[in-house]
Amino acid sequence: MPARTDSFDLGRLRMTSGEGRRSELDVALDPLQFGGQRYTVEPYVVTAALDISCMTHRGYALRLRFDASLRGPCMRCLEPAQPSVAVDAREVDQPGGGEELSSPYVDDEVLDVHAWARDALVLALPVQLLCAEDCLGLCAVCGTDLNAAGPDHAHEREPDPRWAKLSELKLD
Ligand SMILES: [Zn+2]
Ligand SMILES: [Zn+2]
Repeated sequence: MPARTDSFDLGRLRMTSGEGRRSELDVALDPLQFGGQRYTVEPYVVTAALDISCMTHRGYALRLRFDASLRGPCMRCLEPAQPSVAVDAREVDQPGGGEELSSPYVDDEVLDVHAWARDALVLALPVQLLCAEDCLGLCAVCGTDLNAAGPDHAHEREPDPRWAKLSELKLD
């Protein structure tokens, strides 16, 4: 089990203006709620690439990239799904640069990489988490899993109401 990094001390790098560095960090990702379902990240520790650029006036431009594999129910057919999500997030923190240039994840040159990775993962999620991109979902009539039922699954169409009326006629 690799050592987890929850926070990363940027100041300790003692970078100078214009300098860039890359660090590989092992970041733990907590289970998340999405669309009313619970998803775990497996393995829950991912190796993330952190690119750090030191700007003038002791500010930082940061980029965090990692791939996460989720586990939870498919949102269409409810079978187990294992979608993977590619995360590529950026932050800028410039002390004295105002609200826009102040990263919520940087406090006194210490980066809260755990919180950033969690939020970046949620923002990178697709609209629906599926077992497969072309998952057929459940039959709207009987609830059968259409992936398992095959293309022949069908129901008798509701009888045309005009024919229903005709069948009520009693012919002597
Ligand atoms: Zn599915
Ligand atoms: Zn059906």
